[in-house]
Amino acid sequence: MRRREVLLRGAALAAASLAACGGGGDDLPTDAQALDGRGDRDPSVVPPPSNPKARVIVIGCGMAGATVAKYLRLWGDAVDVTLVDRDSRYTSCILSSLVLTGQRSLSSLVFTHDALRSRYGVRTVYEEVRDVDPVSARVTLASGTVLQADRIVMAPGIAFDDVPGLTDPNAMPHAWKAGPQTTLLARQLAGMPKNGSIVLTVPKAPYRCPPGPYERACLLADWMRLRKPQAKLIVLDANPGFVAEADNFGRAFRELYGSVIEYRTDVLIDSVDPASRTLFTNGGAVRGDVVNLIPAQRAPAVVQAAGLANATGGRFAEVGVLDYASTVAPSVHVIGDSSATTQPKAGHIANQEAKVCADALARIFAGGSPDPAPVTNSACFSTITMSKAAWLHAVYQYDSAQRAMLAVPQASGASSGWSGDHFEDMGIWFRALMADSFA
Ligand SMILES: Cc1cc2nc3c(=O)[nH]c(=O)nc-3n(C[C@H](O)[C@H](O)[C@H](O)COP(=O)(O)OP(=O)(O)OC[C@H]3O[C@@H](n4cnc5c(N)ncnc54)[C@H](O)[C@@H]3O)c2cc1C
Repeated sequence: MRRREVLLRGAALAAASLAACGGGGDDLPTDAQALDGRGDRDPSVVPPPSNPKARVIVIGCGMAGATVAKYLRLWGDAVDVTLVDRDSRYTSCILSSLVLTGQRSLSSLVFTHDALRSRYGVRTVYEEVRDVDPVSARVTLASGTVLQADRIVMAPGIAFDDVPGLTDPNAMPHAWKAGPQTTLLARQLAGMPKNGSIVLTVPKAPYRCPPGPYERACLLADWMRLRKPQAKLIVLDANPGFVAEADNFGRAFRELYGSVIEYRTDVLIDSVDPASRTLFTNGGAVRGDVVNLIPAQRAPAVVQAAGLANATGGRFAEVGVLDYASTVAPSVHVIGDSSATTQPKAGHIANQEAKVCADALARIFAGGSPDPAPVTNSACFSTITMSKAAWLHAVYQYDSAQRAMLAVPQASGASSGWSGDHFEDMGIWFRALMADSFA
């Protein structure tokens, strides 16, 4: 089997129908219509179950939440699934650094939940979740509405630490959640002087997308050679070295971008002055014309307030990886970037954790137990230039002695170098992954 086929095997379902979920889609039914079924008159539309055997509320409809909702409906028989998100559309972080170089539009990364409703009978509610009671399995929305479930699946992604002095986050945008900050950072970069300087910070691990900051650095350095030839990029890494793909990024930083990138390790940011765009660090003050400040990360407040962030020094939620149930609240499952596992915080892994969780819940609702030996896989492509990419992939298998997902060395690895062919593969992989999650 060719490598491309191996990489895509885990996410290749329904790729053909992706066009239905990317961009556009202004014909969403209202929340109320979706909830009582009046919004969809097409007889081919799948309704939610009328006599459900269990009710699940999914909080967050990103990579993990969309996938768990879809597969709970596919595998869970008559399970009633309600998705709650503050936004009715999802903007993919994956490929969003290409928006900074003008290679993609942000709108090309937008996905709706239409297919989840119409093809799978998932209910959707668009509101902020204010509070989760992990004992009674109740969810309180910002409006005060209370939803009751048998199980809750939390997939709210990440939140950022406050940075002392950063009163206006837009002064030094992270663009680490795709959206308005991505557009803002792109605008700041385009307006930067030709001989200016960019500062990009890498937070202490664990953070969302381990190779992401380095791939953004490579992409920006290549773009600078073209658009801002005398400009410099200073990368301030809070870690002792590259957190992922050290061979490829190390080589690219040295061989391709030695005269563009200045890479400093073990740099901690104490505070910032947004007015002068200065960062005060353990190695002195650093100023940039544009500062892409990516703060340290943790599970969002809704996970913290429910008392579920009991790992990584209180940052993320500890879960059992057979069913992703919280270790302190068995009827609440935490998947995606909010959970603490041995797997990376990545969209592909969020999709995989969601499927393991959906399968476990389907088995539990049918009176059985979760699969005792789950396997997950992850592929990650990193842009090394504006037209060439490298890749990294891993297969994880459950280890019953350590009760953890461990990488299988024979089935894991990285590309040796980068190529235009891998860049093309990246687009195919992305379409398949997003279709598997949203279509
Ligand atoms: C620049 C960049 C590049 C990346 N590239 C890759 C890549 O190449 N490959 C890869 O696998 N991963 C990549 N990632 C990582 C990937 O985007 C994340 O790991 C993935 O999105 C995590 O999925 P999630 O479902 O946990 O969180 P998210 O996808 O962030 O979804 C969380 C959802 O929860 C909702 N939400 C949160 N709190 C609430 C609340 N209180 N009430 C209601 N709704 C709420 C949000 O609105 C959001 O829709 C990249 C990330 C970045 C930033």
